[in-house]
Amino acid sequence: MLIGIDDTDSPEGMCTTYLGALLAERLENAGNTIKTAHLIRLNPNVKFKTRGNAAICLEVIGGDTDEIFSIAETTIDELAETDHPRTEPGLVLTESPVPGAFYHQAVTSFCSIEEAQTLLKNTGAKFKGWKGGRGLIGATAAVSAVSASIFDKTWEFLAYRDHREKGLRQIEAPSLWEADRATTPHTWDSVDPENNCIVCVPHTPDPVLYGIRGDSEEWVRTAAQIIRSQSPEWTMCYQTNQGTDAHLINGEIGNLIEGHSYRLFGTVASVPKTGQGGHVSFLLSGGIDDGEVQCMAYEPTKGFRDIVRSLLPGDTITICGSLKEGSINLEKMQVHTAPAHRRAEAPICDSCGKRMTSAGKDKGYKCRKCGERAASPDYTTIARTLVPGWYEVPPCARRHLARPLIRELP
Ligand code: ZN
Repeated sequence: MLIGIDDTDSPEGMCTTYLGALLAERLENAGNTIKTAHLIRLNPNVKFKTRGNAAICLEVIGGDTDEIFSIAETTIDELAETDHPRTEPGLVLTESPVPGAFYHQAVTSFCSIEEAQTLLKNTGAKFKGWKGGRGLIGATAAVSAVSASIFDKTWEFLAYRDHREKGLRQIEAPSLWEADRATTPHTWDSVDPENNCIVCVPHTPDPVLYGIRGDSEEWVRTAAQIIRSQSPEWTMCYQTNQGTDAHLINGEIGNLIEGHSYRLFGTVASVPKTGQGGHVSFLLSGGIDDGEVQCMAYEPTKGFRDIVRSLLPGDTITICGSLKEGSINLEKMQVHTAPAHRRAEAPICDSCGKRMTSAGKDKGYKCRKCGERAASPDYTTIARTLVPGWYEVPPCARRHLARPLIRELP
């Protein structure tokens, strides 16, 4: 059977993955077997979310469904941050598969609570929503993803401290770098060498000590063994859809929907400019009726902005990112062509070596000193430093669902 839970945390604490780990332990203590624990990330652009829009699905073998449902219910009652006005937990238990279409909709678009409830009733699932029951959307999406088995998979090893602990986490930073060096490219985003910072340890008041992401359970466990930290209250290895680009759909400029995430092909249509706060923007054209969309690389994407600044009008690229308030927030891009540019300049006078000036519109150039004329300008070729290929934001700016380039495709 599959158990889905979602929306148990708040910005002040808790974490749905911690609650899932605790529930897994309680179910095992009650004589059930947890086959696999899944951490499913959903549309990162949903407004009602705490940090990462994560839901949990536990694959459970054994037991009495009423008893299992009741253990899950008690665990949520006990630990979910239901006092927070925006925390609305959802719990689902199903023995029949839930169609994968719901997950696909929840990771790329938006779902309503009513849609989730209808699907659950049709499937014959047991479910409960606390307060408004918004968490039923994620809980349903998580069991939908797992029962349809339609997602590309990665792993995350999570170490937790006691959920009442709110202070600084005791972790030896050098051991995180060692763990990264020993397991790269099979683990990723533990550290950010380009920006010399640690990515896998949160700064939020939740129970996560650290999380190691990678392409197999063996690799994330190998990395975790190298890490020296305060002794975790417990650990959990989740199968996830993180780092898979599951949120991206192939789109066309001119036909884009707010809150959706796309892969878009187009031609750079303006010279990138750096605005207030260091955000870089440019226009991309293409798609339906040669439409245009603004693309943004925000300040937290750090060095990636230098790549974006080196684009020139006429370059052809594919970009990946979400449409937010009318602009695409870039996650990565593939440069297809970045041809050398020719810049026209007034020619140098053959007789006196001075640079000529324009003689007027369509009248060529004239030397102001000796009167010599020239019909056409001199062209200088501007060499490009930008070479075709993929470019991405650094680990410190990566979204959970975005596939890092280091990750080899399965
Ligand atoms: Zn001259």
